[in-house]
Amino acid sequence: MVLGLVMPRRRDPAAPRVVYRTARVAWRRRRRDAPLSGYQELCRELAASGPGTFAELDSAGARSVLRRFSDAWFAAAKRRKDGDVSAGFPRRRRGLVPVRWHHGTFVLDGRRVRIPVGRGAAPLWVRLAREVPYPLEQVRSITLLCEGGRLFLDLSAEIPIATYPVGAGPDPGRVAGVDLGIIHPYAVTGPDGAGLLVSGRAIRAEHRMHLADTKARRRAVARRAPKPGQRGSRRWRKYRRRARMVEGRHRRRVRQAQHEAARSVVSWAVEQRIGELRVGDPRGVLDIEAGRRHNLWLRQWQVGRLLQVLTDKATLSGITLCLVNERGTSSTCPACQRRVPKPRGRTLSCPHCRFSGHRDLVAAATIATRSPGGGPTTPTAVVLSEVLTHRRAGRHLPGAGQSRRDPRRPRVA
Ligand SMILES: [Zn+2]
Repeated sequence: MVLGLVMPRRRDPAAPRVVYRTARVAWRRRRRDAPLSGYQELCRELAASGPGTFAELDSAGARSVLRRFSDAWFAAAKRRKDGDVSAGFPRRRRGLVPVRWHHGTFVLDGRRVRIPVGRGAAPLWVRLAREVPYPLEQVRSITLLCEGGRLFLDLSAEIPIATYPVGAGPDPGRVAGVDLGIIHPYAVTGPDGAGLLVSGRAIRAEHRMHLADTKARRRAVARRAPKPGQRGSRRWRKYRRRARMVEGRHRRRVRQAQHEAARSVVSWAVEQRIGELRVGDPRGVLDIEAGRRHNLWLRQWQVGRLLQVLTDKATLSGITLCLVNERGTSSTCPACQRRVPKPRGRTLSCPHCRFSGHRDLVAAATIATRSPGGGPTTPTAVVLSEVLTHRRAGRHLPGAGQSRRDPRRPRVA
């Protein structure tokens, strides 16, 4: 849960600035000391350095910066070990680092949050742009973060799993298959011929429009770009700030649409009393983990995010989710189990047995028959969907409500 913050006014002398740096790491590097990367070592170094190392930050906050740095370091080391030479260690100075505080260190009072600060520093109260939607005793941690020039408070809360009246809850025997995709983020087939297609066209349009806008803006300002080593002009900095803001808005829009897509899948599954969602995991097929470079569409797809969002929402609704191997599900005929040439459009038609059906739903139906162990296809009969529900993700996106997708296109009278 991410909440917007009301920024303290700049001129207000009582508003402390929250800027923490990982400068000490740079000093150590310059002194050629052995690099410190482990969280424990860093914490020992912090304790030895005494108060004031992290300006007005308290020790819990300082340790959270160290944790983040250490995690980034080991993540980079792992990626490099796996052969990804483009992975860089976190050596750049960071102006703003997300800082987390756990339950008991902060105070939540309606729309106000008191963030702990170091001894002797003025108390830091921040105002939230809206109410916290959970009971305060359920809030486990808060994270202060800055994205696209805006401050946010990321809240994690312990929420009980949904309870249902007897006989109305998810039935563990009812299994649905989920196929992840780009055009349809989720295609789902349930047990008695019920299917759900969530359209992601609005998300794709948002990506495409954002890319076109970014390109046009870059072209327009290319002349003003500073040369390497040259200091940018004030106007250039203004442009950079604006670009960051637009980037942040784009990311928020896409994230919101992804949550809507996952929400519609879980609501549908609850309605159908589905107890288990079997999701085809495309990451093995795509080789995403190995750090390979991919084209823009694949990178924008964000499979990991789609999976994560769906897992969270399914768990809260009492539905279990398991990953199965999705290899070959979109190129195997569900009727005769033979390989089918990869369909160009959305319809899969089998040249062997004349079967024809929606490609993503067919894949989801085959996924539903696979077992999470990763073994070969079990001989369970594929159940194809007959009753289809359509949902659109990202209805709120500009221009997504009507059939026209680009709101900049002039209206035809
Ligand atoms: Zn066939």
